[in-house]
Amino acid sequence: MRGVVMYAPGDVRVEDRPEPAVLEPTDAVIRLSATCICGSDLWPYRGDDEIHRPSPMGHEYAGIVEEVGSAVSGVKPGEFVVGSFFASDNSCEICREGYQTSCIHRVGIGSEGAQAQRMRVPLADGTLVATPDVPTEDLVPDFLAASDVLGTGWFAAVAAETGPGKTVVVVGDGAVGLLGVLAAKELGAERIIAMSRHEPRQQLALEFGATDIVTERGDAGVQHIKDLTSGLGAHSVIEAVGTQESMMQAIRSTRPGGHVGYVGVTHGVALPGQELFFSHVHLHGGPAPVRRFLPDLMERIWNRSIRPGKVFDLDLSLEEAAAGYRAMDSRQAIKVLLRP
Ligand SMILES: [Zn+2]
Ligand SMILES: [Zn+2]
Repeated sequence: MRGVVMYAPGDVRVEDRPEPAVLEPTDAVIRLSATCICGSDLWPYRGDDEIHRPSPMGHEYAGIVEEVGSAVSGVKPGEFVVGSFFASDNSCEICREGYQTSCIHRVGIGSEGAQAQRMRVPLADGTLVATPDVPTEDLVPDFLAASDVLGTGWFAAVAAETGPGKTVVVVGDGAVGLLGVLAAKELGAERIIAMSRHEPRQQLALEFGATDIVTERGDAGVQHIKDLTSGLGAHSVIEAVGTQESMMQAIRSTRPGGHVGYVGVTHGVALPGQELFFSHVHLHGGPAPVRRFLPDLMERIWNRSIRPGKVFDLDLSLEEAAAGYRAMDSRQAIKVLLRP
């Protein structure tokens, strides 16, 4: 089987890897219809996360079930399924409260390596959600987006308490930020301000429902948001980057009593306690419990009422993965789809 392995920053190879197999009775093995490169894969690619050994890559997946373990009853071979980047039992107390990424039995999918032809999915009953039938080819990118970036943008919008009558700001114009715009629109936000300096991403933000674009960042960006909101700041702010600058930009763009939903994996962020104390801003975020939202999101995709797959603006074969990483690293591509 072919799969993507990262050896060192900037060194991504496609090579032969062992065929995945059912190891536990709760496992499934799926054949990937499509997989993709994530913005978070760029942290090790750029040397911001350490790589201690050659690492299989990828945690976003959609495909056909090939084999299930003896304890699996929720999905069966031949079904098209989507799962999240953490496998979860979906039955413990934390899962039932909607935080499947903190499941007491959670298993990271990253170590299985979804950028491959096939993969093992642990805790298949709790993790995988099947479509009513095998979808047509054009819907595969939409379902793949549900595996992480759509579910993550959606969680950010929910954590930021987006809804009717709300003004929403989105910090970050990667796939998650753009799908945060889509989520805010679907959840009924009145005004959606996307912060982006890149023309093609601005266009997609507008297509997904943004009403305003702000190109400045940092203090100038915050000032522009204040100017657009009678000096108050937004009700709801989605933070989809994870740096000190983007986090402070999000907090300072939020009005007293407002909410920040933060889903950018934080790198070197330190929050000033006293500023936070006096801001009256709610902060909620973390690794998105995508599994909570999958049934709803997959139904919207099946009915074609949302098309989140538009974030994939480069479609390559799995063998071309290294070119895909380069394109995302240089921001020439928003998100790269890989066909096994
Ligand atoms: Zn991801
Ligand atoms: Zn659980």
